[in-house]
Amino acid sequence: MIQDISPHLFDNSYKDRKPEAGDRIFFYQGRSTLLSKATGLPFTYEEVDRLCPVETIPSVYLFSIDGRGYFWGRVMPKAVLSEGILVGDRHFRDMQPEWEAFSCITASQLHSFYHEHQFCGCCGAPALPDEKERAMRCPVCGKIVYPVISPAVIVGVTHGDRLLLTKYSRPGSVKFYALVAGYTEIGESLEDTVRREVMEEVGLRVKNIRFYKSQPWSFSGSLLSGFYCDLDGDDETVRLQEDELSEATWYDRSDLPEGGSSISLTHEMIERFRMGPV
Ligand SMILES: [Zn+2]
Repeated sequence: MIQDISPHLFDNSYKDRKPEAGDRIFFYQGRSTLLSKATGLPFTYEEVDRLCPVETIPSVYLFSIDGRGYFWGRVMPKAVLSEGILVGDRHFRDMQPEWEAFSCITASQLHSFYHEHQFCGCCGAPALPDEKERAMRCPVCGKIVYPVISPAVIVGVTHGDRLLLTKYSRPGSVKFYALVAGYTEIGESLEDTVRREVMEEVGLRVKNIRFYKSQPWSFSGSLLSGFYCDLDGDDETVRLQEDELSEATWYDRSDLPEGGSSISLTHEMIERFRMGPV
């Protein structure tokens, strides 16, 4: 999965520090990420410093990988823009190496958080990145906002040797098979979300809900929790939520379609079911 970057080491603890030699610096235009035209990767400190002194660029520390700091450059110098290419988040689904794709999509989600909380939601004053922790702080009323992460579930609905696969109906959505999935609502446990989403999307009752693994999924700003569960009863008849899904089909373990992206929890859960009982 995209977060499995071993032997590289992701360090998410917040540090109050400035960019130095060897670090990486992200710049953004709207929601697009600027990558180095020369390498197709995030700009290095050295690449940026050659075009504009890094110490003159206001920056925010994001995280480290293998001890190397990753920063958001809050102002994009024109000279850097001319040496870069702007890409959307989808670019990072197939980017190589995969561990650097993980750094890019994680940085993009953090940038979105900072960008979307530039003004205090309580008093409307301009807010600023906090210098002590990963948060936005209002200098007028003191309101602190932490990164927003939306919990969601991925559900492998099983019936003996069969797994229920779905396809989204939204234009532009991923074309390969998926599993039942959806966001957790306020006031709901993850298990409640599993039961509700399965009922809403395919009209089935489920039992024996069991947690599999979780995954940070910055493409949608979410934290995914993967569950398997069993069909409650023997009636496999699907009632499809057509504005959400175009298809929901039961597949035997030996007949599951091949394909999909290895970066996703959905793919891993389908492949895990193919190997045997879950
Ligand atoms: Zn305020």
